[in-house]
Amino acid sequence: MIADVIIKNGKCVTMEKEGECFDWVAVRNQHILQLGYGETFQAYLSADTVVVDAGGKTVLPGFIDSHFHVIQTALNAVSLNLSDAETLADIRARIKATALAHPGEMIRGYGLSLDGLQDSGQLTRSMLDQCCDDVPVWINSKEYQVSILNTYALLYFKIPFTTVGIELDERSMPTGVFRRNANALLRTNILDSFSDDSRMDTVSQLMPTLLEKGITTIHAMEGGVCYSDKDAEFIYHHGKDFPIDMVLFYQTMDIEKVKKKGLKRIGGSLYIDGTIENRTAALSFEYEDCPGTMGTLCISQQQLNDFVLECYQNEIQLALYTIGDRAIEAALIAHEQAMYQVGTTALRHRLEHVELATEAQVERARKLHIIFSMQPSYELDCGGPGGLYERRLGSRYQLTNAFREIMEKGVRICGGSDSDVTEANPLLGIGAAVNHPVETHRITVYDALRMFTYEGAYAIFEEERKGSLKPGKLADIILLDQDIFAVEKEKIQDVKVMMTMKSGDIIYERF
Ligand SMILES: [Zn+2]
Repeated sequence: MIADVIIKNGKCVTMEKEGECFDWVAVRNQHILQLGYGETFQAYLSADTVVVDAGGKTVLPGFIDSHFHVIQTALNAVSLNLSDAETLADIRARIKATALAHPGEMIRGYGLSLDGLQDSGQLTRSMLDQCCDDVPVWINSKEYQVSILNTYALLYFKIPFTTVGIELDERSMPTGVFRRNANALLRTNILDSFSDDSRMDTVSQLMPTLLEKGITTIHAMEGGVCYSDKDAEFIYHHGKDFPIDMVLFYQTMDIEKVKKKGLKRIGGSLYIDGTIENRTAALSFEYEDCPGTMGTLCISQQQLNDFVLECYQNEIQLALYTIGDRAIEAALIAHEQAMYQVGTTALRHRLEHVELATEAQVERARKLHIIFSMQPSYELDCGGPGGLYERRLGSRYQLTNAFREIMEKGVRICGGSDSDVTEANPLLGIGAAVNHPVETHRITVYDALRMFTYEGAYAIFEEERKGSLKPGKLADIILLDQDIFAVEKEKIQDVKVMMTMKSGDIIYERF
């Protein structure tokens, strides 16, 4: 049989089993036709076959990002990036420049690290008014747990001042800082106000940057608290209009709604707790830098038990957001009870993030066949001595994201970026997992690649179609600019994708 495309002279790592590697891969009709050694590809060659010479570099299945907020990421690509803003003067200057460059348009800043900001208490409505008072200004903290508005936006988005989480000054006037319920309500109101045309525009603009990183499938976490259900509806209706496959995780607790849509899964950022940065992740101990604080659970154990049971009974795959060990505990208790009543471990339920799982919890998760959906890049942002984890957790920073121990215990881990919380770049995550600041948690290059390929497919029941190089599977294939197994470990994150093929079509090439 003749191939449409042959990638020859490569290190075609199948990701089916460790060490399996071919010299060439042939593609026909969107699928992988055959793999082989040496010159045997000649049998599949015709004058019309496109031949790509891989030059001895690594060929892999396309990357799968298992936790990705598509609309938020797309929106950010057209918003004001404040992730490297360190001073109030800096923020002021950038907002003023944006107002000048885009007169009459709402200004939306994102990625601001309040933890790293000096005088963050002065970042209020009146400060923003001084920069811009004739359009709404909306600033988001890095993990979206805090919003800051100018007066225009405060009046424009009409959140009742009695809502929990609106910060008031000594005169009982809003300072412009929104947290908790008020922040969630505000975010949903604002995101609801965007049109589907603008979603289509921004998501289309995002696609090339993802293909450039070798991403061919994403698990799209959309809708719900802090987000907008219109985002989930958009992905549901238009997800197939884009070159990258998007598998929707609807962030809702409304099982009937997802069933009516024919979805087989639910959740994503379905919050059981908060974040370590904001000291809202639920811990079994006190925060090192805030004695007396142990974080908060967002839902009662009984409510969680009932919901998890309902998912089991309806055969719906469930993804729950859990970061602290106390949140993980609550989720495991609910799963154990549901398992006891329904008796199935076949639904591939997931816990998202799972940054602080104890050894005993990992063992219980294994028995329940629960998948951990984890983000190695968090370690780049927060890990190691002096990092955010150490400031919040003290010496327990050495316990976060224990990839190796989790894998060795037999729990499957799929890898994601949580884009846009960290950059949508699987090679960055793979490098972070291999170079974990705590040596005992480091994993091999192969295992890290597997998190972002095969395990990502498994976590959405697609391992028969995707996630490895195997005849009959979809031809989602990428070519790197190096042999990733020969690169110094510290330099893995600098490896580039040379070519991305989706369903047999080469849709990205680096020149
Ligand atoms: Zn997320």
